[in-house]
Amino acid sequence: MKDLNRREFGKLIGVAGAASVPLTGFGNFAIAQAAAKVVIIGGGAGGATVAHYLKKGSPKLDVTLVEPGKQYTTCFFSNLYLGGFRTYDSLVHRYDDLAKLGVKMVHELATGIDTAKKTVKLSGGRTLAYDNLVLSPGIDFKWESVPGYSAEAAEKMPHAYKAGPQTQLLKKQLEAMPDGGVVVMVNPPGPYRCPPGPYERMCMIAHHIKTKKPKSKLVVLDPKKDIISKGPVFKEAFEGIYKNIIEINLSTEIDSHAIARLDAKTMEIETKAGKKVKAAVANIIPAQKAGEIAAKAGVTEGDWCPVNGEDFSSKKAKDVYVLGDASIAAEMPKSAFSANSQAKVVANAIEAALAGKQKFPARYRNTCWSMLAPNNSVKVGANYTPKEGKLAPADGFVSKPGEDAALRKQTFEESLGWYSGIVSDIFAKKVS
Ligand SMILES: Cc1cc2nc3c(=O)[nH]c(=O)nc-3n(C[C@H](O)[C@H](O)[C@H](O)COP(=O)(O)OP(=O)(O)OC[C@H]3O[C@@H](n4cnc5c(N)ncnc54)[C@H](O)[C@@H]3O)c2cc1C
Repeated sequence: MKDLNRREFGKLIGVAGAASVPLTGFGNFAIAQAAAKVVIIGGGAGGATVAHYLKKGSPKLDVTLVEPGKQYTTCFFSNLYLGGFRTYDSLVHRYDDLAKLGVKMVHELATGIDTAKKTVKLSGGRTLAYDNLVLSPGIDFKWESVPGYSAEAAEKMPHAYKAGPQTQLLKKQLEAMPDGGVVVMVNPPGPYRCPPGPYERMCMIAHHIKTKKPKSKLVVLDPKKDIISKGPVFKEAFEGIYKNIIEINLSTEIDSHAIARLDAKTMEIETKAGKKVKAAVANIIPAQKAGEIAAKAGVTEGDWCPVNGEDFSSKKAKDVYVLGDASIAAEMPKSAFSANSQAKVVANAIEAALAGKQKFPARYRNTCWSMLAPNNSVKVGANYTPKEGKLAPADGFVSKPGEDAALRKQTFEESLGWYSGIVSDIFAKKVS
């Protein structure tokens, strides 16, 4: 299948969110509200999509996107880079097309939010006022969840779970590792971004070992008792394609293979169950929480941000929306597809509030593809609607063990199309 253009991606995401919402046509209300200000924090899968759809649908809205990076590196497909199936450059995207649409790009960090005064403080010292605020800051790490691990230790034992230099570091270490070296992966407890992400990464690292370092192996320490997404197809790959390469230690009791201690100097890691491993390369993925700015804004409850499933408005602050990984969107998984789908509903809700547009019932969709081996990918997905305080899944589907090679190849090609479609949709890229 060739790469999808935006129209084809639209068909793929089908009923997602407000994708079906008409994007043109203003009433007098919109003109009266021309100066309404929307500030969006976080230029990733969620925030950049909101900026795109707001500016495309209601050009007169004053839309500011606050994002420290001048370019965004996708976590999605970063495992394929680790496996040697993707260049690093192919993961990197700029904000130029959003700026051309009229989105005001502010490359600073939001350092404080006053939801009573409706203002955002920036690292450069300025303060922005808003009518509506959108938070899509992704995740931050709970370093203390892995005793001995820290931001400093991550320079030696990368997490590679926020894409960028960390991903490059892990790739460099895997390439430099002597044949026979042991790669250790520490998987996170739930909830975390991209439920199948660590297991896809295991396949990609195992593929690297199989093809480049045949005397090496991958030892995985997992605080969970089972694989929480696409378990049967991953297990089939671990026991088949990667037999004798992957050793996965799932916990027999809750947390038994959570980390008791880790030493970044000696590269020794020990689990609560007493399993000890010395790593040549260590990939440590700690427990996660909403990006720190969410807690500073006072919109968290525990580690994550409670929202109303009808439009992702915050349950904690008026005129604030929180979407993507930072939000509590159960049972939607924390994924780029989810964030992109939620963003269209948020944009529609803001247009209804500030530009006099009709508000449509929320419908969401997610699909997560994972690459197991060359031309061999699997997927899981569902549609979601708000129901009794949750986002209830319907029409779910998941790849099954034993599928034939042609179907797996088709699923892989579909994932390539999805990637090019979604990055165009997020960053308002022109597609030919
Ligand atoms: C290895 C891996 C593989 C994955 N594979 C897939 C996949 O195949 N499919 C899929 O759908 N999803 C996948 N994901 C998940 C996906 O990357 C995330 O779910 C998605 O990026 C979430 O979007 P977001 O907008 O919530 O956060 P992000 O995309 O992380 O964006 C958050 C942005 O906010 C910015 N920010 C944070 N704090 C501030 C602040 N104070 N001020 C200003 N800006 C701030 C950050 O710089 C960042 O750019 C994967 C993730 C990983 C780690």
